[in-house]
This record gives sequence, structure tokens and C-alpha cells, in this order.
Amino acid sequence: MADGDVPFDQRDGFIWMDGKIVEWKDTKVHVLSHGMHYGSAVFEGERMYNGKIFKCREHSERLHNSAKILDMEVPISVEELDKLKYEVCEKNGLKEAYVRPIAWRGGEQMGISAQKTRTHLAIAAWSWGTYFDAEKRDKGISLKTAKWRRPPAECAPTQSKAAGLYMIATLSKHSVEREGYDDALFLDHRGYVSEATGANLFAIKDGKLITPTPDNFLNGLTRQTVIELAEEHNIPVEVRHIMPDELGSFEEIFLTGTAAEVTAVGKIDEHSYTVGPVTRKLREAYEALVRS
Ligand code: PMP
Repeated sequence: MADGDVPFDQRDGFIWMDGKIVEWKDTKVHVLSHGMHYGSAVFEGERMYNGKIFKCREHSERLHNSAKILDMEVPISVEELDKLKYEVCEKNGLKEAYVRPIAWRGGEQMGISAQKTRTHLAIAAWSWGTYFDAEKRDKGISLKTAKWRRPPAECAPTQSKAAGLYMIATLSKHSVEREGYDDALFLDHRGYVSEATGANLFAIKDGKLITPTPDNFLNGLTRQTVIELAEEHNIPVEVRHIMPDELGSFEEIFLTGTAAEVTAVGKIDEHSYTVGPVTRKLREAYEALVRS
């Protein structure tokens, strides 16, 4: 059986959990954990390239910030977290890895209030190739606009990488996958184009890079990196709201995310795009940077 086919809870290896390295299969969580009943969990998704975690510190800081937004506290410091992520990769013999720290509220208290709960922490790492099918990724993946919309920042902790926020992402992704699309595109509550289910969006028009203002979705670390790379390559960048009726006028579209990296989009609803020179240039620049 290929590694990718083995269910996640039955793999071999080691996970750091609540203070120690534990056999992968023995990392158990109690059924009455607050995190499971009320979605009080925050997590990170990081990639190690050739033995180095890209933006390691920024991811650790974001986990702390995500927790703070949910009124939780990660039980270890940013510095300790940085060190432990490397230890977990080393213990699993990984130099190319996806790293997943997760913090969640325990089972000391049941009900909405969670003042008495302890925040648990686990760090896992495994080999994970391209997020989207590698062949599709080169041709450009297909997106369909989701029925669900991203909520306003007044109605959800949108700047936290909080587990609960992914509920509409899973529903939307299932719905479009059943119709043969690779991912869903969210509009926000105002009807502006926001992001895909787990990646930010960029559009190219007349040589200019346009990306939505991250005022109610995660301002991804890959998004921020790609904006910097575009500026280094003298590609003008415009951060602004995008209306869905503009989608037909763009020449290229791509997504960015730690898992998705830079992924070209070939289609959104009835609109088609080429995997053009700007997408290719920024993808190459990103691939070079993460391995530098
Ligand atoms: N939006 C969502 C909803 C995500 O889950 C992710 C992945 N963390 C991103 C955007 C991209 O963030 P990053 O580039 O920091 O991985």
C-alpha cells in the first residue's frame, strides 16, 4: 500500500503531543473534548523543503495569534514551537514534509464556556506531494463559485486559522467536486471574490497582478511572499476588491497557499484562463525561494 493510501490514524511514525514524542497511532483525544464539540481548535500548515521549514517563525507566530483570537493560549512559546517542529521532522526522518501543529481545548469542561479547559498541542509531520493533482496543476485547475459565502469579520474570527471556519469550505469543496471541479471559489458576504477553500487568489490583467483585499479571510503567508516576489520582478500589484463580473476579463489566475504553493487556474465557472508567463514566472520564483 502506498503511504498516501494509509489512513492518517493508522500510519507509522511519531507525533509530538502535550510534552512528549508519542507513537503515531497512540495520539488519542478524548471524545468529550471541547475542541471536538465546539470547534475550539487552531492549526497551521507548513512545508519543509530540503530540511528547512519555509517561514517557520511566521507560522509559529500565526498559531499563537490564531489561538489568542479564540481566547486560547498555546501552552509553549513561539521559540519552543519552532524547535519542536524540527524535532518532529527529524524523528520521522523527513527533509521534505508537510508540518501540522494543532492546538485544541480539552475535556475539563463541557458546554459553551471553556474557562476551565486546558489547551492541548500536537505537532505532526508527513510527506505530502502537491496538494492538487500534479498533472492538473500544470494545466490549471478548475474552480466553481460556491453557494456558501465567506462571513464578514464582524461575524466570525476570520483572521484566525480556526478549525471551525473550515466547515463551509468542506461543504463547498464536496459540492463542486461532485460536479467535476477541483476546488470552490468563495465570494464574501458583500459579493466580492475572496479566496478558494484553502488558498488565496491572484488574477492577471494587462501585466498587472490583482489580488483581493484580505479584510475577511486569511492573509496567507504565501500570498504575502508572492506579492514581495512580484515587486522584486517589477510586476505591478494591485490589492483591491474584485467583483465576480470581472472574472471574464482576466488573462491568468492562480492560487497561493502553503499546501497549494503556486497553482495555476485554468477555469472558473464558464471562464477559461491560460497558464501564462506571469503565473509561470512567479511559480518558478516561489519554488526557488522556498529551497534557497
Ligand atoms: N486561506 C485559507 C482558508 C487557508 O486555509 C490557507 C492555508 N493556510 C490560505 C488561505 C493560505 O495561507 P498560507 O499561504 O499561509 O498557507
